[in-house]
Amino acid sequence: MNQLEVRLLTKSFDSFQIVLKSIDFTVNKGEFLVVLGPSGCGKTTLLRIIAGLEKPDSGRIFIGGKDVTDSEPRQRDIAMVFQNYALYPHMTVYENLAFALKIRKTPKHKLKDIVESTAKLLGLSDYLHKKPKQLSGGQRQRVALGRAISRRPALFLFDEPLSNLDAELRLRMRSEILSLHNNIKGTFLYVTHDQIEAMSLADRIMIINKGLQIGPERPRLLYDYPPDTFTAEFLGNPGMNLLKGFTDDSGNYIKIGNAQPFPHEKTLPTNNEIIYGFRPEDCQISQTGQIPIEVIGFEDTGKEYIIELSGPDNSKIFCLTEKKYNLGTKLYLKINKARFFDPKTSKALTF
Ligand code: ATP
Repeated sequence: MNQLEVRLLTKSFDSFQIVLKSIDFTVNKGEFLVVLGPSGCGKTTLLRIIAGLEKPDSGRIFIGGKDVTDSEPRQRDIAMVFQNYALYPHMTVYENLAFALKIRKTPKHKLKDIVESTAKLLGLSDYLHKKPKQLSGGQRQRVALGRAISRRPALFLFDEPLSNLDAELRLRMRSEILSLHNNIKGTFLYVTHDQIEAMSLADRIMIINKGLQIGPERPRLLYDYPPDTFTAEFLGNPGMNLLKGFTDDSGNYIKIGNAQPFPHEKTLPTNNEIIYGFRPEDCQISQTGQIPIEVIGFEDTGKEYIIELSGPDNSKIFCLTEKKYNLGTKLYLKINKARFFDPKTSKALTF
């Protein structure tokens, strides 16, 4: 397994659409790095460039310290797992797992050992004689994973490998991919638009938004201290609530809409517009609090309620509660933990 280095990678498909702008990051040997971003942000393009299927406009790619930017895909020793599995339909599971090894002229006895140990690792031992169409979606995805790991590549690339699976199977495959990673200690680069998948799998997450990268950073750090409003809203379900506020001339009070100004623990720029952010789990509905609200909707998730609230200036706020509230209830929101952002740059204000 090897380290991947991506240095100042830029790619555009036409002169006015720059998909990736100076993307620069390292995936350490044995690390699980997730690239997260909305549909169309350039995740697949990034993977295709690393795999050698697409040429960058500028920038370099190193695998194990070797510059592979101009190498053919097959010279890069990369295995890619896609969302559509890309299995050979006329071959059995055994033949699918053995295919890449055969091409590399692996001796027969060694090939059999690798295929059988891979099948065992992925719980496929009883399915080796079956064809892909005789398997369930989860089993097919496991064969696709098996085909990638059987040849022990320097680097694994995953392109939304779970997006064709139903919710329950996604959950199971997520934990299987994690234990597979722990087992083989591979260098994994995994792209997804699903923030829950990213949070639960990644050692570090790199977000791509409008061609620019945010991170890579540890998931918890990105979640607790989002560096900008995009990350704040994109991570979390629902994402962070972001309200427009104003500071007073001391910088110690914030006023949101027509609500009473309230004090906060940080000293902010004085007489300034700010964005006041707090997560749905970091607030509670109460008789007293900083922000007057009205309950306008709710969703029962079984475990908790996602309460939809109308705040000052008709702002929409989400709050997680254990208790159900009647529509029309007018109370206050107590904020336990807040973050502050600059509305001009969308960046977090640091103190
Ligand atoms: P998704 O999550 O929907 O798969 P993505 O983040 O993987 O999206 P890409 O497939 O990398 O996004 O595409 C990024 C942008 O580049 C899109 O706007 C897409 O239309 C454009 N694009 C991708 N490939 C080409 C191409 N071969 N020619 C022109 N434009 C392209």
